[in-house]
Amino acid sequence: MVARLIDGKARAAALRARVSEAAQRLKREHGVVPGLATVLVGEDPASQVYVRSKHKAALDAGFRNFEHRPRAGISEPELLGLIRELNADPEVDGVLVQLPLPRQIDARAVIDALDPAKDVDGFHARNVGDLWSGEAGLVPCTPFGCLLLLRDERASLAGLEAVVLGRSTIVGKPMAALLLAADCTITLAHSKTRDLAAVARRADILVAAVGRAEMVKGSWIKPGATVIDVGINRTAGADGKPKLVGDVAFAEAQEIAGAITPVPGGVGPMTIACLLRNTVVAACRRRGITEPEL
Ligand code: NAP
Repeated sequence: MVARLIDGKARAAALRARVSEAAQRLKREHGVVPGLATVLVGEDPASQVYVRSKHKAALDAGFRNFEHRPRAGISEPELLGLIRELNADPEVDGVLVQLPLPRQIDARAVIDALDPAKDVDGFHARNVGDLWSGEAGLVPCTPFGCLLLLRDERASLAGLEAVVLGRSTIVGKPMAALLLAADCTITLAHSKTRDLAAVARRADILVAAVGRAEMVKGSWIKPGATVIDVGINRTAGADGKPKLVGDVAFAEAQEIAGAITPVPGGVGPMTIACLLRNTVVAACRRRGITEPEL
């Protein structure tokens, strides 16, 4: 068996097109242009690349962009002051604070200073609580993107065994919450899990988010399983050039899985598309406008 490739790029492009349409309709019918503010502290090169691509995507979708680039040495009170300004700004619907933040700043304090209604990353404690209690908050972009890919792939998720490898607050835990809400039976595995391979082999749905290049081998996969590879790991290719690989040994896994996301071109593009989606949702909810199905 050779697994079907789950085309995250195409799925993300379709979602982005629907977000653009929704943004145009908001402007036409309500005079509202969704606004996304990004806060990038310091000069971290990887963060700069991420924020730049989020900006471009937001502009392409017809949003207003507000870019904030505080210096690396900014104090926590100063940064909290900026967050308060963005919370109060009526033109800003979504605020994204690019992580990681410099050492002198408590990231939790900054995230929890955000207005939860503008927290388009879904990291605020209120949104985390809403997710686990089944309320409609804002949901973290990467796991939500994974869920959309899974929903396309499987007619129903109800009753399936889902194993999530990795328990971070940005991917693993919210992924588990979303799969639980979709009526899967979930296992959330991590670095202390015993016999990870055997746990993974139980999965009808296997989500790998560990940040370990090609850790998940073909023998860890149940035949026919749907495999979502969240990992992005930089390694050296056979030609010595830098290469991106996932957390799953793709070539082996493809022989056994029923469907699998590639890296790159799987989960990555969905993350940005879901950020745009969350911004439109936030723009609607803040104004009591019925939100589009996205
Ligand atoms: P993270 O915060 O470093 O968390 C990694 C998780 O994996 C932890 O829960 C850790 O367990 C677990 N883990 C690490 N080594 C393990 C092992 N040998 N066996 C079992 N579990 C292990 O990482 P993250 O932020 O969730 O990101 C995970 C990966 O996804 C990274 O490659 C990252 O680049 C990628 N990512 C991609 C996107 C995207 O848009 N595609 C977005 C976010 C992240 P403990 O908790 O026990 O330490």
